[in-house]
Amino acid sequence: MPASPSTSVTLTPIGHIESDYPDKFGVPRQPGLAEAARASLVLTPPFDDPLTVRGLEAFSHLWVTFLFHLSPERWTPLVRPPRLGGNTRIGVFASRSTHRPNRLGQSLVELEGIDTDAGVRLRLRGVDLVDGTPVLDIKPYLPWVESRPEARAGFAPEAPASLPVRIAPEAQAALADRPDADSLRELIHQVLAQDPRPAYRQGAEDRIYGVRLRDVDVRFHALATPDGTTALEVTEIV
Ligand code: SAM
Repeated sequence: MPASPSTSVTLTPIGHIESDYPDKFGVPRQPGLAEAARASLVLTPPFDDPLTVRGLEAFSHLWVTFLFHLSPERWTPLVRPPRLGGNTRIGVFASRSTHRPNRLGQSLVELEGIDTDAGVRLRLRGVDLVDGTPVLDIKPYLPWVESRPEARAGFAPEAPASLPVRIAPEAQAALADRPDADSLRELIHQVLAQDPRPAYRQGAEDRIYGVRLRDVDVRFHALATPDGTTALEVTEIV
């Protein structure tokens, strides 16, 4: 007997994400677009029994099912994907929108390793998840089932175009003494190349934006390049 449509279910997070992204702004739209992004999935009791992940190390990628906990609970049948410029409306179930019934997300992420010396911590790469995201389930990725390169992908047939990014010398100086300078510089390039600005803000503009990555605030603006395209320049890292 199927549950009646009005049946509500209670889900218990099995853990949470610790990531380089303190805020939603600037997080890439899908995993794998900023490979330098580090994250951990920390299991919480009673799920943090190492037995729960026995054998998982043999898989290179995982499906992480999570709650868009920073999205409002209300949802609308139509959404406006940034990929379509932010004005075209499509059905919420034809999108990967963060504003959806039950607020469930799923990301395919790379598993770098598993630490079980104190509880269970999965080290991940290239996530698209804000720090603190509640995780509801983990499943190993099965390429022979789930890799379907022949599939049609509607209005999102390939990765979004990326913009050239430069870091001004005075901003570079702020990275000099950091032990994670190289990986943070790489993360800044990869995140800004996705052009985090709102979809309706394309092209050069004077406005200064700020995106928080790890423990820094990266300030940037959009420049017109000599060939008429747009580049993003980091003016300050504080
Ligand atoms: N890969 C997942 C999917 O397809 O379900 C997420 C795609 S969604 C478009 C990715 C965006 O979700 C990120 O750019 C970020 O702005 C937002 N996001 C990440 N973690 C979130 C959270 N805990 N609550 C709300 N929004 C979040």
